Amino acid sequence: MFRTFRTVKLLRRFMGFSQLGPLNAEGDAMSRKSLEKYSGQRNKEKRELFGPYQLRVIEDLYKRRFFEHFGNRCFKCGMLEKARQEIGAPPNLCMDHHLPMALGGHLAPGNLVSLCRKCNGLKLDRDPADFYTQEELERLQPLLDSQKRLFAFSFDWDQWTHDRETYLLAVGVDQDVVHAALHDEDFVGYVGKEEKQIGITITIDDALLQQILDNRPQ
Ligand SMILES: [Zn+2]
Repeated sequence: MFRTFRTVKLLRRFMGFSQLGPLNAEGDAMSRKSLEKYSGQRNKEKRELFGPYQLRVIEDLYKRRFFEHFGNRCFKCGMLEKARQEIGAPPNLCMDHHLPMALGGHLAPGNLVSLCRKCNGLKLDRDPADFYTQEELERLQPLLDSQKRLFAFSFDWDQWTHDRETYLLAVGVDQDVVHAALHDEDFVGYVGKEEKQIGITITIDDALLQQILDNRPQ
């Protein structure tokens, strides 16, 4: 019963996200093909960028640090991210590819800019030089240059195995988030306090075993 309820919640969460940006099925074959090509690359680079964090709560911490790096603002228009966004609504700020994928850019530290969805929609595949003023480009450069250090992280499995709570706090995850990750099964970044037991135990009593042996085909 509980599991079913949880599954429904997870499904809702998944569906909430899937509604954000459906591909336009009416798009022409060429652009759809190109969209598919870049979606593969984007997924691969996403895994490379966020994979090292291992846990959702650490990944989210580093994403938050990225936006803080930009003062939680859109670099282009200065729009401030709302402190509290509506549940299920996508965040207003996104990580924009400074040099777009279409021009050979990657989803990687040194090429990421905090933009609001509106400015991101205006920029699309444009070359940075066509979108930003010279003054903006100069102001942006140090924010790009410092990103390698900003994203640097190496997961310490020994520390994690030794004491999950202490490790997450040491990494910099907020106390209430750590608590939810360890104790709240409905939390999106839930990992639990201990290693989950994987596997099942089967018990068969002697009488049943005898019955099975007696009935096996000759
Ligand atoms: Zn903006």
